[in-house]
Amino acid sequence: MRIPTIDAPDGVHPICPHCDQRIAGIHRRQLDEGLGKAYVWFCAHCHRTLGISHRKGFWMG
Ligand SMILES: [Zn+2]
Repeated sequence: MRIPTIDAPDGVHPICPHCDQRIAGIHRRQLDEGLGKAYVWFCAHCHRTLGISHRKGFWMG
């Protein structure tokens, strides 16, 4: 099953699950995992982690 991607209309913004604030920006920091590089993504407002990925683009899960 394919989930459709729908562009959010103006005025609809993502909300951080931790601080319930609009996500104004996402910070990225590179972690050194030894063999590979991982990136941790976190809310620019509360600095709590939103996700970790092994690629340069943001990816949840
Ligand atoms: Zn937050």
